[in-house]
Amino acid sequence: MGLNELQRSIIELKEEKNAVLLVHNYQIPEIQDIADYLGDSLQLCRLAQRVEDAELIVFCGVDFMAETAAILNPDKKVIIPSQKACCPMAAMLPMSTLREAKERHPEAPVVLYVNTLAEAKAEATVVCTSSNADRIVAKLGADKVIFGPDRNLAYYVERRVHDIELVVVPDDGYCSVHRFMGGGDEAMELKRIHPGAEVWAHPECEPEFQDRADYVLSTGGMARRAVESDATVFIVGTEQGLIDRLSREHPHKTFLPAKSGSECAAMKRIDLGNLYEALLKEQHVVTVPKNTADKAREAIERMLLMS
Ligand code: SF4
Repeated sequence: MGLNELQRSIIELKEEKNAVLLVHNYQIPEIQDIADYLGDSLQLCRLAQRVEDAELIVFCGVDFMAETAAILNPDKKVIIPSQKACCPMAAMLPMSTLREAKERHPEAPVVLYVNTLAEAKAEATVVCTSSNADRIVAKLGADKVIFGPDRNLAYYVERRVHDIELVVVPDDGYCSVHRFMGGGDEAMELKRIHPGAEVWAHPECEPEFQDRADYVLSTGGMARRAVESDATVFIVGTEQGLIDRLSREHPHKTFLPAKSGSECAAMKRIDLGNLYEALLKEQHVVTVPKNTADKAREAIERMLLMS
């Protein structure tokens, strides 16, 4: 792999500062190439707990992910290269809506997707990711669970757990990138052209697309399936960054986007330029008030124990 000058400068600076670079699957290929760790939210949460030797954590992902790393590492400096890398879905759950649901259903535990801000996590019983949401909800043993903020992930969970009522908050939280893929018409058209291909939908995709896909998988699940499957063509219902990663890791297999143009603008706010500058100036530091962080940490650690 030939690295460019800026990539080499970032690696040098990173070593000089004893920094670790955590990179989400949806980042651009040039950043994925120089990651110390590359993965989905759950994998990065786990890794964020195991970076004792690093003095600085550089998180290439969106706001809630960097916050999670800061919550799990209260004694470390965590920085995010762009303050504009904010997940719109994480901002869709107003605290008033969540508190109202808790008042209406005081007996119900609260399971929140990791794609929420720290303030919301602090109100949760347990956090979940798309790779463990169904198991976490089932393991609570409750008849009713408050769940949010992604309506499509709630649909995915409802199909897999039985006799548990989900109270979904807010009414219509969603990821615009996965909603953009619609009911999966473009993916089905690709399947017609490549009949041996596997169609994958992410649990954030619309219910109709989930129902039509061969597999509904988190990005970590997609990465595993790419290794295990004998198929050579995959129609991938998630963000372009994962397709870039899988294409690089499996050069003899073909990964096609379920809908072209499925890119997360928030993730793509981070580039090599602002990553270099962030490392150099050790900016933008992610902080979470102690009280909020302590409560949110309990919900995250409960997930790590349960998954
Ligand atoms: S892909 Fe969707 S859920 Fe993920 S960061 Fe982008 S907007 Fe948020």
